[in-house]
Amino acid sequence: MITRPLSYLTLGVAAPLLFVAGLAVLAGVYRGSDAALGLIALGFIGATILLGRNLLLLVAWARQPVGTPAPQGEGLWGSVFAEIGDRFQRECELKERLSAELRRFQQAAMAMPDGVIYLGEDDVIEWMNPMAEQHFDLDRRRDVRTALPNLIRQPEFVAYLAGRDYAEPLVMRSLRRRDRTLQVQVIAFAGSRRMVLSRDISQLERLENMRRDFVANVSHELRTPLTVVGGFLETLIDGIDDFSRADVIHYLTLASEQSNRMQRLIEELLTLSALETGAPAQVEEEVDAGALVAEVVRETELLSAGRHELRLVLEGGGALLGSRKELQSAFSNLASNAVRYTPAGGHIEIGWRTGDEGGEYWVRDDGIGVDAAHIPRLTERFYRVDRGRSRETGGTGLGLAIVKHIVTRHQGELVIDSELGKGSRFAVRFPPARVRRG
Ligand code: ADP
Repeated sequence: MITRPLSYLTLGVAAPLLFVAGLAVLAGVYRGSDAALGLIALGFIGATILLGRNLLLLVAWARQPVGTPAPQGEGLWGSVFAEIGDRFQRECELKERLSAELRRFQQAAMAMPDGVIYLGEDDVIEWMNPMAEQHFDLDRRRDVRTALPNLIRQPEFVAYLAGRDYAEPLVMRSLRRRDRTLQVQVIAFAGSRRMVLSRDISQLERLENMRRDFVANVSHELRTPLTVVGGFLETLIDGIDDFSRADVIHYLTLASEQSNRMQRLIEELLTLSALETGAPAQVEEEVDAGALVAEVVRETELLSAGRHELRLVLEGGGALLGSRKELQSAFSNLASNAVRYTPAGGHIEIGWRTGDEGGEYWVRDDGIGVDAAHIPRLTERFYRVDRGRSRETGGTGLGLAIVKHIVTRHQGELVIDSELGKGSRFAVRFPPARVRRG
């Protein structure tokens, strides 16, 4: 079987020639006859015309766009054209399939959350995705075909790319945006080709810093009371015979206060951790808002011990849908802060109201207040405006962080209004879906 078009072509030329040769043999039989010579000439002209016409068809077809159906050739030429046509068709289909695959790969790479840059010879950029443009402040239309080290000139990156040791990724800071940290990994493939992958790890880094700060803060918060307890105990051990019973009771009471403080800190840390790790919320229940707020007022009266004038305001009762334990913890926290940051003789108002826009719990005081600059940071763990005052009043710096978490878990919002020296209003607003109006 003849498979190559060239063989067909040879056959296409050879067949008429054979035909002519056959005629020549015939002519040889009638040697000398004019009729035989005429026949040879006629055959030769016919074969040449046929060959010329088919070659013209072939040339004209070759000039058509790829995919144009093969022309109708005469005789054997028809099969030759059909064979070439089929072959082209198959190659076109294969090319189309490969292009579609490539397009899909590119679409996937375009949508990737990581930056991708393909480098060709001499580190020239061949392709990049939008995330790579963002990470390195590049522009696809402008920078493709430019050598990457000419665009990212940070020495550590240039050295990493040139070093050819890509076992470990490179962590680098973006030059234009100092708050952006990138993790860059180069992958070598297909000989001299390379792919640069980049990932924005700023958020991870921020979390890592927060974790470090948190551990440092907790250690610091625990070390202070522990040092005090340790000091008292040593004093007692060293001079137990020199101390009166009243002195001993005094030291032990102070030590006990510090131990209570550590216990409170650990309890609040555990509460915060449970809220933060998203442990399942307490069973959702209908909490009688009026009763809950009245209970908080009673607790606050005990805490204030008559030093403040307390007022309860209820504008509509109804129920709150949520965890009773968590809501009570958040409401009490705000009320106890009002007691702790309002000097004796001050006023504290605790209230609840419902309306079309949902429900609102609030605690208003005319205490020391907070300067506006501190307000956005009050809910950060261990953030305190006056560390000394917070400690004196038994604070851990975690109260508002806990409140914020609880409020968020109930789709609510913590709104803080405060003025230094005038007082504060801490409000928790719940959406209508969380409130059953009474
Ligand atoms: P702390 O245990 O220190 O009270 P919180 O998280 O409850 O911690 O509060 C954070 C900080 O917010 C406090 O240290 C205090 O400076 C400020 N703060 C909270 N509530 C009040 C308030 N009612 N009046 C004035 N300052 C307040």
